Amino acid sequence: PKDGQSEPWYPTPKGGTVREWKESYRKASALVKQMTVVEKVNITTGTGWMMDMCVGSTGAVPRLGFPSLCLQDGPLGIRFADNITAFPAGVTVGATWNPDLMYERGQALGKEFRMKGINVMLGPSMGPLGRTPAGGRNWEGFGPDPVLQGIAAAQTIRGIQDEGVMATAKHFVGNEQEHFRQAWEWGTPNAISSNIDDRTLHELYAWPFADSIRAGAASVMCSYNQVNNSYACGNSKLLNGILKDEMGFQGFVQSDWLAQRSGVASALAGLDMSMPGDGLKWQDGKSLWGSELTKAVLNTSVPMDRLDDMVTRIVASWYQLGQDDKSKWPAPPPEGDGGPNFSSWTNEEVGKIHAGSDDETTAVVNKFIDVQGKGENAHGLLARKIAAEGTVVVLNEDEVLPLSRNGWKDPGNSKNKNHKFRVAIIGEDARENQNGVNDCPDKGCNVGTLASGWGSGAVEFPYLVSPIQALRKAFNDSTVQLTEALVEKIPSGNRGLIEDQDLCIVFINSDSGEGYIETDSIQGDRKNLRSQRGGDYLAKDAGDNCGKGQGSTIVVIHSVGPTLVENWINSTTIKGVIMAHLPGQESGNAIVDILFGDINPSGRLPYTVGKSEEDYGPSYEILTKAFNAKNLVAPQQNFTEGLYIDYRHFDKFNITPRYEFGFGLSYTKWHLSSLMIQQKAGRDLFAAPRPAPGAIAPSYSKDVPDAKTALLPKGWRKLKKYIYPYIDSVKDVKKGKYSYPKGYSTEPHAQSPMGGDQGGNPDLYTVVANVQATLTNQGDVDGHAVVQMYVSYPEGYKDDETGELIDFPVRVLRGFKKVWVAGGSKRAMVNLPLTRKDLSYWCTRRQIWVLPDKGYFNVELGFSSRDLQVKGQFPIV
Ligand code: BGC
Ligand code: BGC
Repeated sequence: PKDGQSEPWYPTPKGGTVREWKESYRKASALVKQMTVVEKVNITTGTGWMMDMCVGSTGAVPRLGFPSLCLQDGPLGIRFADNITAFPAGVTVGATWNPDLMYERGQALGKEFRMKGINVMLGPSMGPLGRTPAGGRNWEGFGPDPVLQGIAAAQTIRGIQDEGVMATAKHFVGNEQEHFRQAWEWGTPNAISSNIDDRTLHELYAWPFADSIRAGAASVMCSYNQVNNSYACGNSKLLNGILKDEMGFQGFVQSDWLAQRSGVASALAGLDMSMPGDGLKWQDGKSLWGSELTKAVLNTSVPMDRLDDMVTRIVASWYQLGQDDKSKWPAPPPEGDGGPNFSSWTNEEVGKIHAGSDDETTAVVNKFIDVQGKGENAHGLLARKIAAEGTVVVLNEDEVLPLSRNGWKDPGNSKNKNHKFRVAIIGEDARENQNGVNDCPDKGCNVGTLASGWGSGAVEFPYLVSPIQALRKAFNDSTVQLTEALVEKIPSGNRGLIEDQDLCIVFINSDSGEGYIETDSIQGDRKNLRSQRGGDYLAKDAGDNCGKGQGSTIVVIHSVGPTLVENWINSTTIKGVIMAHLPGQESGNAIVDILFGDINPSGRLPYTVGKSEEDYGPSYEILTKAFNAKNLVAPQQNFTEGLYIDYRHFDKFNITPRYEFGFGLSYTKWHLSSLMIQQKAGRDLFAAPRPAPGAIAPSYSKDVPDAKTALLPKGWRKLKKYIYPYIDSVKDVKKGKYSYPKGYSTEPHAQSPMGGDQGGNPDLYTVVANVQATLTNQGDVDGHAVVQMYVSYPEGYKDDETGELIDFPVRVLRGFKKVWVAGGSKRAMVNLPLTRKDLSYWCTRRQIWVLPDKGYFNVELGFSSRDLQVKGQFPIV
């Protein structure tokens, strides 16, 4: 296909071909066989926005004991719910570089979702990947590198699903900016088209989804935007081809909320569930599926076996997670009567059971079940640990850090004897929002300390420990005089707040969020990468004037992503800079843990901090004008930079960043030595053939039932705007001439040799080489190091048939390990595997992953993408 055009891929590969899902598909097909057409359709379609308790609810089949499924946001906690935990956001989790914590957070989330009666968690988010550092929703995910993002997403999914809750890998794919993500919110005829070339799609944006599917993700959410001028939720190449064939996805594809833009076409393209079930608009009562899908199946425009596959995928996912098992599911007593025990639409105990309709029926909807864990299993403790580990110290001059609780580190110094150690805590970001921690719906305002971005990925805080609350307790007040200047700007009449201090700790921030909310005139995407609400002025003021130039200043930045520091970093008193990201409810405690060295910092940047926006190259630009050329039916965002985002761009163009990807300081000193590479011999260029299916996809009778079976049961009263699967009259089922999407076919499609199992051909994950090195903690302080492995592909490598030179990034992250080593020259051995996929590139000509077999691979291990301490090389033999 031409650039910017998506090619057709039909028909949808059926679920049920993978061994790990065999038993679930067997059970599912036994159940689905007994269902009528309307029962099947009911499972594929949401009941409509606000119609039931959750942000999404499917129709049930009570006759066969199949429940309505509750789908709820979001990535960092349970949206619209009480007595829950507000965990650190994805960007913070990415900054921990700690796969164990990623899993533990997922598991704690899974527990909370299960106990609230939620079947499907709408997270984790791995798209946006973070193409543009200003992207409004980057913070929901784990950072703009596919390997880091993929490991974090997969670990989160394993944790969630080990608790019996289905995870959703979202948003597939290319939703890299908020502007124009949907047509109706932004006033364009169609949503933005992210035009992504095939290789970039495979090597960057789809990569974390492959890892997620390999981890067994039960659901994938397709995104609002178009990809190569075809809506992501109706894009057959993406859903049928890449997701279900190449990646062997066995679960179900759900639409983002109103991201479905067609009825028949999206069914044929591989969509399995319409969310929230409404049609082209909120609560218009006219689903694109529901009764329309029933008609389409009865008039044969959508083949019966496509509907059967949709339902079987959903029901099999329910079995796969053990949600049919009454001993584990629903939630434990006392309220375990099945279904959600909270309402998204009211905080009162009693409320409407169908809030969005004309039905006035009420019931107890909120049971206020505390799901936060208790004692040493309190999720708040885990939230604090993650927040601290996701805090990155990027500057520590004159060992200003860690601080002493008593103030002076050297109280014996005569200069220090005269007075108490004077500390000012400066900035609005250090205090709580005085109107309450849940002042603005979906966190849609930036007032007080920033602990989460805004949008559907935000939750109601059960509590929020602000930095000032924790700092008041942290200092010894018999030796320290604490001053609070929790304002945006130091008043000119009160310069002492800065000038009479020994230490100034300045809190500033930078916020962003989902495009349906505008805050401080930020429409989702950030306008630049600087701090907001006067943060740079405050940091500069303190930096220049703390202690009249004799003090020390530490700047703490709460942020959704990279924040530029150039406006103040060279001010005389700036000694410490800390990127504290979005810490969640335990914010203050976590920053105290780092500031005072109770925890040795081990957070590392999951992105690059440049010196200017331009440093990021073409991918920095958010498309904010709808039409960049005439006669376009949709805004076009061309990903012309290809593979070169974030550090790959900085490396390619030799741009010195302020703080590079992977960077972060520790209170101890780390050293790497003795690199060894052990190659497993006998690798050829291409992956082993696609394996035979581990199971046979279920098949059902292809007969189209009588339309009468789909009529609304007699005596039923329809609720207003509620979505039903029933047809009003058999006359509605007309055999028309339906014009199918170009390239549509029911003949089996050739299968990709890269498919065959969850995550793709299993040989892609065969270990090709093992890399080993010795890590030494040369300092006195115990701590975690993050050992990062970067790979450079063979130079001058050419496609063996066409002779085309293959372009490779200077280096790419291909693995990492977080290792605990005690101080005093203690050592640890670090082992990192390299898989076939890690060393391959996506060959667009052959449509496969190719392992270069000429020249040498370079492997570098280090503590950031530019602090590479040991190197080695090897050829593929
Ligand atoms: C967001 C999704 C979210 C959904 C349901 C959409 O606006 O893009 O991430 O899961 O709403 O709240
Ligand atoms: C029918 C339409 C119907 C559509 C699906 C088509 O095949 O011709 O009348 O609206 O299916 O909803």
